Amino acid sequence: MPHVLMLRAIHPDAIAALKAGGCTVELLENPDAASLAEALPRAEALTVRLTAITDAVMAAAPNLRIVARHGVGYDSVDIAAATARGIPVTITPDANAQSVAEHAMMMLLACARRTWTYDARLRQFGWGVVPEAPTFDLAGRTILVIGFGRIGGRVARLCAAFGMRVLVHDPYVAQNTVKGAGFEPVKELHAGLAIADMVTLHVPSSPATRRMVNAGFLAGMKPGAAFVNTARGTLVDEAALASALSAGHVGCAGLDVFEEEPITRPIALLGLPNVVISPHSAASTAQGMQRMAMSCADSILACFDG
Ligand code: NAD
Repeated sequence: MPHVLMLRAIHPDAIAALKAGGCTVELLENPDAASLAEALPRAEALTVRLTAITDAVMAAAPNLRIVARHGVGYDSVDIAAATARGIPVTITPDANAQSVAEHAMMMLLACARRTWTYDARLRQFGWGVVPEAPTFDLAGRTILVIGFGRIGGRVARLCAAFGMRVLVHDPYVAQNTVKGAGFEPVKELHAGLAIADMVTLHVPSSPATRRMVNAGFLAGMKPGAAFVNTARGTLVDEAALASALSAGHVGCAGLDVFEEEPITRPIALLGLPNVVISPHSAASTAQGMQRMAMSCADSILACFDG
């Protein structure tokens, strides 16, 4: 009976599936170092959301056969160490793509209508649209989708459904694939940035993409354009983004992810009126959580099935 150690609870359907598959399940909710060290020797499988799985964690779990990440992105797991130890690491690639794509649309719409500004204003009995918070239609605007993978592809389709002109920048996807899907490929990032009214980011975090949204990127954006990031905070130089937003060169931003998470102290971006934020919650809809958990359980059961 494989023993599954869960670092944070996942959806009960997945716990039931694991138990039905013959696993024993132990839940450690926000464990401290001592309780983690006590539990790790029992673990044959780990489910993990954002806890860092380092070489030291794996060394303390000699029976570990699989790390099943609840989410997308390998950035919280030391993949080289896992590979050296022969431990497969799985993610839940398609499970949350729709949830994140819809969140990106929500932020694009929020930026277009400055929903948070008008909500706060009306609570103080302010009525009508003010020039400091201009609103616009998505239809007829041009969006640049950076990263045409599972999430970016969905966002592109949703934007097209809103009547937007959709430009796609992804150096690893053939231009014909983008054209075949009905969108305009943009080879040079800056050519797209210069003409897009909105920019949405959907690329993985890696040493190559770290802080790709830097002062040069932001200066290249069309003045007043909106920027949405539901990918990873490490992709963005937050100080440069805050400056561009303060200056109004970037009109507004929607951010679900941050350089340091969770945010526990004031950062410049939070003090700006033209920023709407969420706490890395894009994937955490009821349906997204259920699908991610079931995908984790399936990976574990498949691993022990051989
Ligand atoms: P994916 O691997 O399916 O797609 C990523 C795409 O980015 C690929 O097509 C790749 O070719 C492209 N790409 C890589 N480097 C690029 C570059 N420099 N410029 C342009 N394109 C580049 O990934 P996905 O599942 O669509 O996830 C996209 C992002 O969303 C990731 O950063 C992931 O971590 C993040 N994410 C966030 C949440 C959340 O809760 N906010 C949830 C899931 C995923």
